[in-house]
Amino acid sequence: MKTKIVYSEKCLGYGAWHIEGPERVKIASEILKEKGYEFLEPTPATEEDLLTVHDSDYLWKLKKGLVEDADTPAYDNIYEYARLSVGGALLASKINGFSLMRPPGHHVGRNGAALGAYTRGFCYINNIAVAVKKLDQKTLILDIDGHHGNGTQEIFQDDEKVVYLSLHQSPNYPGTGATSEGNCINFSLPLDYGGQLYLKTLDKAMSMVDPGKVEMIAVSCGFDTHLGDLASLGLVEHDYWEIGKRVARMKKPAFFVLEGGYVGKNVGLDIDSLLRGYEENR
Ligand SMILES: [Zn+2]
Repeated sequence: MKTKIVYSEKCLGYGAWHIEGPERVKIASEILKEKGYEFLEPTPATEEDLLTVHDSDYLWKLKKGLVEDADTPAYDNIYEYARLSVGGALLASKINGFSLMRPPGHHVGRNGAALGAYTRGFCYINNIAVAVKKLDQKTLILDIDGHHGNGTQEIFQDDEKVVYLSLHQSPNYPGTGATSEGNCINFSLPLDYGGQLYLKTLDKAMSMVDPGKVEMIAVSCGFDTHLGDLASLGLVEHDYWEIGKRVARMKKPAFFVLEGGYVGKNVGLDIDSLLRGYEENR
């Protein structure tokens, strides 16, 4: 069965000048519609949902637009956009779908910039973290974005229900994730590492996860590992098929939440490739 795409055009309403801009998901959504995916509209997450991860002071400031951050602007109504993006992750987690929403989330910790990073890296609320908290199952968070998910690691560090696994490019923003710590397994890889080596590393990383500790796989799905993007590991479209296959091989339910990836055409084609790899090997 084809994975459903969770998406609302409302997420296109901010940041047209920013690299984390609407075009990246707009173009991706058009590609996926053309390929016949079914789309579902999310509803906004409630404040109660957000409080499972973030402190109330932090949410209060976000609501007031009190965001002082060098790369994460204080857009009008950003709290509402962020709430809807979390709603996308929540719906994806319930239907084993793919949330194609923005803003992304994995760099933001409980109260903003995480693990000593200087900024929130285009993130306001940690979408996947809220979805994982709400599910309250033993979860493997597989973070394939090219940047380390410092926010997600901060939130789930030493959480007995969660294993966090990240493959990311280094040196790069946010400068964290050089080593593994407890339940957080990190592999930092050099620029343009290449698909073959990447997949070998992913196999090794996934072999470190005890399948008995996994009831659900939550994929923090960034595509800036694509050749030429912001955190390139030299991956091309077919490599995402191989990643999808490896998710399927664990034989657990999964859902997917968009993180980075800044070339819309690549994002659309890579999502299709990943989901086909996943579906064809389940
Ligand atoms: Zn990224």
